[in-house]
Amino acid sequence: MASFDYDAEVRFSSAAPGYWSGRDVSPGQWADYRWHLKNRVQRLDRIEEHLALSEEERSGILLTGTKLASAVTPHYFNLIEADNPGCPIRRQIIPRVEETFADSHEMTDPCAEDSHMPVPGLVHRYPDRVLFLVTDRCASYCRYCTRSRVVSGVGEQHLETQWEAAFDYLENTPEVRDVLLSGGDPLLLSDARLERILSRLRSIEHIQFVRIGSRMPIFLPQRITPELCEILSRHHPLFISIHCNHPRELTAEVREGLERLADAGIPLGNQSVLLRGVNDCVEIQRALVHKLLLCRVKPYYLYQCDLIKGSAHLRTPIQTGLEIMEGLRGHTTGYAIPQFVIDAPGGGGKIPLNPDYVVRSDERNTLLRNYEGKEFLYPEAQELGSLLM
Ligand SMILES: *Cc1c(COP(=O)(O)O)cnc(C)c1O
Repeated sequence: MASFDYDAEVRFSSAAPGYWSGRDVSPGQWADYRWHLKNRVQRLDRIEEHLALSEEERSGILLTGTKLASAVTPHYFNLIEADNPGCPIRRQIIPRVEETFADSHEMTDPCAEDSHMPVPGLVHRYPDRVLFLVTDRCASYCRYCTRSRVVSGVGEQHLETQWEAAFDYLENTPEVRDVLLSGGDPLLLSDARLERILSRLRSIEHIQFVRIGSRMPIFLPQRITPELCEILSRHHPLFISIHCNHPRELTAEVREGLERLADAGIPLGNQSVLLRGVNDCVEIQRALVHKLLLCRVKPYYLYQCDLIKGSAHLRTPIQTGLEIMEGLRGHTTGYAIPQFVIDAPGGGGKIPLNPDYVVRSDERNTLLRNYEGKEFLYPEAQELGSLLM
């Protein structure tokens, strides 16, 4: 990290056509998300056409294929630096043999979602909101996927969302006022399918708020078509949480896609995962959150990496996250600061973690410190009786 170049990291550039130059891809094909889905880089030989792989990566690609498929859209593949084995994009998306290592604390369902499903495909953990898993496929597969037990279709378990039972449950559970569509990636569904799901949800009176969790704006910004934005804008209030981990993922094409969503009136948040060797320092996080604001995306959560099987090489100490939060608060725009959380192992939900700004407190006074380490005393209101004496 000796030579972090902030100006370079916050610049919006395009990597296209990158590895596909001279390969007879027309600009029309490149702009078409269907072309990207058909031409995803999946097999070892295709990856090796472009990248010199390390032994750890080659074994990873061969050994992890029955756990979580590997697939990368050409758009996202282009962000990988061929000559940098530590490339932060590469670490997120190219399997490594470490994925097959088992740490005794790791789990296949780290947030205990399966045991919180009143209906298969619907996770109801919190009093007023549910997580609705609407597909098991993504445009590309993140190697630290918390739902790898069901995502990508190659593992032992399969997502078996029971659509009618799920809608029945939502109709008959008036305390649910917030539905979060996730998966897999909901924006991989066709426009017509999304329209049907959103209309059905909107027909339920007590559902006030709908949001979609999607990495599509990052993996495949071409999917954010004017037609899609038009459909989404008919179901307001609708929010989208994107998933971006590194400033380099915010390319010129990604910014255009995010602008289309924002122009359709969709408030945008970002959920990022803290990953070793990807974004585990304050310089990168600062560039990331600034660049997100330029795209009209509010940093929402920064997640401590879940205890998913085979993730030890990507997990950071909790202290790293606290130091990053300390380095952001006060030092930059409040809007740019996400909440650092741990999704509790075993199913306790998201728990916020914050640096401690209280030096000490008793019933009369609280001694605080600010972002610069200066101390300030805040006295409690005095009892009225003692003032009247
Ligand atoms: C993250 C999550 C939600 C949404 O939580 P918010 O803090 O409202 O964003 C809802 N249900 C489940 C099961 C979740 O994991």
